[in-house]
Amino acid sequence: MIHGYWLKKYAISGSYDPLEVKPDELPGFLNRIRQGEFAGCNVTIPLKELAFELVDHTDPETSRLKSVNTIFLQDGDLCGTSTDGAGFMANLHQTVPGWTVRSRHVVLLGAGGAARGLVDALLGDGAAHVSIVNRTLARAQAIADDDPQHCTAHDWSALPALLADADLVINSTSLGMAGQPPLEISLDGLKLDAVVADIVYTPLQTELLRAAEARGYRTVEGLGMLLHQAVPGFEKWFGVRPEVTDKLRQLVIADITGTTAD
Ligand code: NAP
Repeated sequence: MIHGYWLKKYAISGSYDPLEVKPDELPGFLNRIRQGEFAGCNVTIPLKELAFELVDHTDPETSRLKSVNTIFLQDGDLCGTSTDGAGFMANLHQTVPGWTVRSRHVVLLGAGGAARGLVDALLGDGAAHVSIVNRTLARAQAIADDDPQHCTAHDWSALPALLADADLVINSTSLGMAGQPPLEISLDGLKLDAVVADIVYTPLQTELLRAAEARGYRTVEGLGMLLHQAVPGFEKWFGVRPEVTDKLRQLVIADITGTTAD
């Protein structure tokens, strides 16, 4: 829906279609891109790490992540990149204009697939420190070990003390997502000027964001990250940097909620 909307808006002839590609079919599928049958593709679980191994070229950030979600051709080479972190940052800037993570303390809940890209983007944009809080401490530690000077791993019991010193709190666990257990944390003690973000986008406004908004915090929804992470792929494939507009947002919301956009 996102890419189809942009193709129509920018009058580009093409389509973005879902295709099922099994892991053992991925090398052959990527060769079809090399031969020009497709402009590129997105890949998702469980192909992201394998795709990283199979592309010809990645950027330095992606080399650290060892996982790609966007593949495109450049000068005949098959290139792979990961756009989640940049999508989160672009959405943060659009939602809270003028606010940056530079020199800030970020508390990140979760250490799953999405978390590593977020940590990379946050530190890349100058965050002073990222405290990763996760149920399985070893997973948080594995991410923190990439940059122990700026990143530490914690279990859930450390959260109240960490929140008291947080400028940005991000939920990157699947808790609070429709069909998953709720995210039950108290925002007591969080500084009044802190920003609270959730990358979960079903429901659009999670309980965490509802509670944060009720207390007057600035909040950042997950849907914007989903829209913004699609921008670099479209630009690489079709040569136009597309805009994330309110009209697109409303269309996707209508699709998610089963209602009709104006
Ligand atoms: P993932 O790799 O499965 O990681 C899930 C995370 O949630 C892990 O940190 C896991 O902790 C934690 N978790 C799950 N159940 C838990 C529980 N009962 N108690 C405590 N912690 C629990 O998932 P992911 O790919 O990182 O995605 C996480 C969420 O982000 C999903 O809801 C996904 O839809 C959303 N997402 C949104 C965007 C976007 O564009 N907005 C992009 C990517 C992902 P353990 O390590 O202890 O298991």
